Amino acid sequence: MIRIMEVCGTHTTSIFRHGLREALPGNIKLISGPGCPVCVTSQGEIDQAVKLSESKDVIVATYGDMVRVPGSSGSLADRRAQGADVRVVLSASQCIDLARENPKKQVVFLAVGFETTAPATAATVLQAHREGIDNLSILCFHKKVPPALRTLAEQSWSIDGLLLPGNVAVILGHEPFRFLPEERGIPSVIGGFSPGEILSALGELLRQIKAGSPKLTSCYSSVVRPEGNPIAIDLMRKVFKSGTALWRGLGPIEDSGMVLREEFLSMDGSIRFSLKTEETPDPEGCICGRVLSGLSEPKDCPLFGGICTPVTPVGPCMVSGEGTCSAWFRYGRKE
Ligand code: SF4
Repeated sequence: MIRIMEVCGTHTTSIFRHGLREALPGNIKLISGPGCPVCVTSQGEIDQAVKLSESKDVIVATYGDMVRVPGSSGSLADRRAQGADVRVVLSASQCIDLARENPKKQVVFLAVGFETTAPATAATVLQAHREGIDNLSILCFHKKVPPALRTLAEQSWSIDGLLLPGNVAVILGHEPFRFLPEERGIPSVIGGFSPGEILSALGELLRQIKAGSPKLTSCYSSVVRPEGNPIAIDLMRKVFKSGTALWRGLGPIEDSGMVLREEFLSMDGSIRFSLKTEETPDPEGCICGRVLSGLSEPKDCPLFGGICTPVTPVGPCMVSGEGTCSAWFRYGRKE
């Protein structure tokens, strides 16, 4: 059996939507990885936002799916139903407007996502800092993909090839992924998201696996430049430094987090509101952590499709449109 991991949740969704798993020969198994940003946000991080939303003076703003992810004592949506001021934003910069329109309130942006969304948070931090907006803070839970892949690759990980996220590579370029073939011997291909682009990347992976010659190649070169996006990289460098991040399923990973630099610490919501991220277990019975590590599939979860559905999600992998459990459920895969 050839085991290929698609790292990105957008790949997972596209693969299911277009029936690509079924179209592949039986000896090729696609395994979903830790590339859904909502799913890898730890329970403890969600608990911080839920706790903050209980304060009358605070508006918590975040991206859509995050609102429904259950923390240890309910979700932001639950708190909103009880009267908390929780807003869904489409972009980080909307938080600037929210802060201006609500000068007597503290606006806290729950910032999640990988290198794809972090530059927009960085630009918002810079703008707020420049304009002296002092009622906006960030709960900064952005995570970096390459350190998580390094952690997975260093564990006993039987993966024969990696379909790498084209959207992250658009920002970072090729270099941060080069260690995968060169140090770990894992064939690694950057791929786009249409069925044709995914199949083309899988074809390249199979060629490398057959030849026994692991390389980093890109099948998304119409979009991804080898050097990435220098403007976005510079924005992240200006605002963030590396720190340890707590990943659901993978635990704490050194240098995989983005922490605000000293000059922006006044905007750090964890400091301003004296919050601490605790490592808390997944909800009882939920195996999201194992699903995100590629160690289990949704069908292995006793709650899948019964107690846990997109309408009644128990874990984040069923909440997010990019979550593996959600994809399995929506596209009717039972095994
Ligand atoms: Fe968690 Fe639900 Fe997925 Fe089970 S089916 S792993 S409870 S999200």
